[in-house]
Amino acid sequence: SVTNPESTTPGIRLRPEIAALPPYRQGRPAPAEGYKLSSNENPFDPLPGVAEAVAATATQINRYPDATALALREKLGERFGVTADEVLIGDGSVALLAQFILAAAAPGDEVVYSWRSFEAYPGLVTVSGATSVQIPNRADHGHDLDAMADAITDRTRVVIVCSPNNPTGVTVTADEFEAFMARVPSDLLVLLDEAYVEFVRDGASVDGRTLIGRYPNLVVLRTFSKAYGLAGLRVGYAIGPVGILDAARATAIPLGVTAAAGAAGIASLEAEAELLARVAEIVERRTRLHQALLAQGWPVPDAQGNFIWLPTGADTTAVAERLFDAGVVVRAFPPEGIRVSIGEHESVDILLGILGELVPGSQ
Ligand code: PMP
Repeated sequence: SVTNPESTTPGIRLRPEIAALPPYRQGRPAPAEGYKLSSNENPFDPLPGVAEAVAATATQINRYPDATALALREKLGERFGVTADEVLIGDGSVALLAQFILAAAAPGDEVVYSWRSFEAYPGLVTVSGATSVQIPNRADHGHDLDAMADAITDRTRVVIVCSPNNPTGVTVTADEFEAFMARVPSDLLVLLDEAYVEFVRDGASVDGRTLIGRYPNLVVLRTFSKAYGLAGLRVGYAIGPVGILDAARATAIPLGVTAAAGAAGIASLEAEAELLARVAEIVERRTRLHQALLAQGWPVPDAQGNFIWLPTGADTTAVAERLFDAGVVVRAFPPEGIRVSIGEHESVDILLGILGELVPGSQ
């Protein structure tokens, strides 16, 4: 057999950059009695009405779904004041990110984003064949939009702005975003990733809803995974100009959105008041944890998502292990820090008990 020296699989000619690419890293499961605060999931059980809407789709699983999810697009269109054609549903917003990157970026092209940010971005860019241009976050753990605008070249095809930024929790302000857009060429695709926007309480933060229809090159990405608690069903959406969305429809893996996902999305919008009351409860827990950590002496940045960033530096692995031993699973990004999702009510005091003993510089 022929062996490709660049491939890890003898005899198979794989793309070398793909053979070297690790798969997306999921949060590890919590111990039986513990708390899984590693994937920014919604800790509340599904609403019965949503579960029933999903169950009702079971009688049709021998048929292909309407994978364009027209009924859900129409409902979202009403909410955002756009037509159903200006909404695109994806197999999670991560699939939409991939579709837009594939639509615009190819080998030799560049994709600009802040770093550290959502872990999936580098892999998606590599899969497209393009090159990542990562701009370090500012000292306050927010995006450096000036440096991002400076990094745009004639090879740049996509810029991703993540607000609130995963994993640091800091938002881009509306003023910063508008100033940034004024510097971006109008033929360069900008993806505003707002996976956590429903948890934002800082009124100065950018809100994609207010930007819809204002820029020919802007797509807003949102998800049902976090605030709406549908992470397991994989349903995200994009709102933007039809021409850009059509290109992303073309790069989609066909038939990726299930009838269960579409039905759950509709049922969740119908139960929105109840779901947003849960979001408010998570925001209360976040505020309590954030304020108490500051009082303990933790240098935590602003937290506008359903998670908090602990800048643990060289102690990252040790702190994550200490939490794991106490039954709390978090996401460690050594040697930078730890992302802790806001989960069950009791988990807040458990976290504060352990983290109070681990304040940086206090030992
Ligand atoms: N964007 C950001 C910033 C995220 O953190 C996530 C999920 N971790 C996603 C997009 C993707 O979410 P989903 O595919 O579940 O919609």
